[in-house]
Amino acid sequence: MPTIQFNGIDYPCNSGESVLDALTRQGVMVPFSCRNGICQTCMMKSAEGNIPAAAQKGLKSTLQAQNYFLACACHPVENMAVSLPAEPNRLLPATVTAIRPLNADIVCVGLDCPELTYYRPGQFINLYRDSHFSRSYSIASVPADGYLRLHVRRLPNGRMSNWIHNELALGDNLHISSPIGSCFYLPDKSGQPLLLIGTGSGLAPLMGILRDALSQNHAGQIYLYHGSRDKAGLYLVDELRELEAAHGNFHYIPCVSDGTESEEYKAGRSLDVAMSAHRDLSGWRVYVCGNPEMVKTARKKAYLARAAMSDIYADAFVAAAPPIGNAMSEKQTAGKIP
Ligand SMILES: Cc1cc2nc3c(=O)[nH]c(=O)nc-3n(C[C@H](O)[C@H](O)[C@H](O)COP(=O)(O)OP(=O)(O)OC[C@H]3O[C@@H](n4cnc5c(N)ncnc54)[C@H](O)[C@@H]3O)c2cc1C
Repeated sequence: MPTIQFNGIDYPCNSGESVLDALTRQGVMVPFSCRNGICQTCMMKSAEGNIPAAAQKGLKSTLQAQNYFLACACHPVENMAVSLPAEPNRLLPATVTAIRPLNADIVCVGLDCPELTYYRPGQFINLYRDSHFSRSYSIASVPADGYLRLHVRRLPNGRMSNWIHNELALGDNLHISSPIGSCFYLPDKSGQPLLLIGTGSGLAPLMGILRDALSQNHAGQIYLYHGSRDKAGLYLVDELRELEAAHGNFHYIPCVSDGTESEEYKAGRSLDVAMSAHRDLSGWRVYVCGNPEMVKTARKKAYLARAAMSDIYADAFVAAAPPIGNAMSEKQTAGKIP
């Protein structure tokens, strides 16, 4: 059984257990959120011991070279000595500049973040309510907007989303991570057709990607399928219709799964509607965001429709895992941002 040395203390790690699970089980406070190798909240640094390749997947090569790794995806095969990162995880201060409803369940949050110098629309940030409580939200804005825009959907009993909907106010100060992820527009093949599929607040990254592509004069056709259970769940419809009218190569197809076809939207799930309209995706670039089950199925279906794996970009909005074992509760770990 390997041991993990943290702050000079050896913690045993059960077979198959991740560094994150082993440490939090034994009461060590390690920030985490998705526990799925996506949000990078649990990034740590190894001073000793081999880092399994899977634990560095998705990290920038500069971070990999400095032995940073994701504790939730690290299943050690030998003893390791690890620490929390000092600088690369530095959080950026942000001020709330706007909160406006997009529909009954989703608000748009505007954030002014002067220290954020660069991002790609469609990437995501981790938004911190306090030093140990964060959630990932995708960037719907483009840099020319001057501030970040997020779309936050309220979940029943959701701790972060209800706090944002009920308590967050204009002028509040909070912290965000640097932008993460590779779900963004690439201007390398301007003529390539783009297929964007999203459900619910999965429109957020797609909105960023779409506006980025249009502002860079993407020449290929762009199809955006946005799905919701009912008509009330669709949002930014007028803005998207205006973009459609202004750009001959952009096509917006709202989809309602519990409805009958109308002039305003297609009936059916966005993924089904999209896949029946585009049966051969060879040469296409595909972006899928939102509900994790939809994203998983969409990846498979796009691949079977001949999209190259390297041309499929996806962000599944996986829920944050609850703390396990002895891990400190959010209340216990709440504290100042470092
Ligand atoms: C890469 C990435 C990008 C994301 N981008 C966005 C975004 O742009 N906008 C956005 O609104 N969210 C986004 N999310 C999801 C977001 O990070 C949170 O998971 C979400 O806001 C719920 O957090 P919470 O604290 O309110 O709920 P929690 O307190 O964590 O969960 C509350 C309860 O809701 C359940 N639950 C969680 N997710 C769902 C769901 N989808 N449907 C139904 N029940 C659920 C949980 O199992 C739990 O029982 C993203 C997630 C990832 C990983």
